[in-house]
Amino acid sequence: MDIELIDLSDYKPNDKKYIKALRLMDRVKVDYITDRHISFTVKNEGEHNVIYFKEKPVEKWQCDCKWYALHSSPCSHIIAVNLAIKEKIIRL
Ligand SMILES: [Zn+2]
Repeated sequence: MDIELIDLSDYKPNDKKYIKALRLMDRVKVDYITDRHISFTVKNEGEHNVIYFKEKPVEKWQCDCKWYALHSSPCSHIIAVNLAIKEKIIRL
């Protein structure tokens, strides 16, 4: 499945969310893959579920965390999954 990664160059190295994502990227695992989406888990103190929706034109990346629900922009978990894919920590 081709994955459209978020633009990681949007984040400055001192961005709090980005720093948290760098810590979390080793904790990303692929949960399951279907034709339409990929489900990831990010385990830290708790566990969050990040889903990539292949067919959605916008908001392809969604997370079940409160921060994402309130902001509708990539949270640290979504950034962590993108980093894990980019850095080949997980393979799809
Ligand atoms: Zn999240």
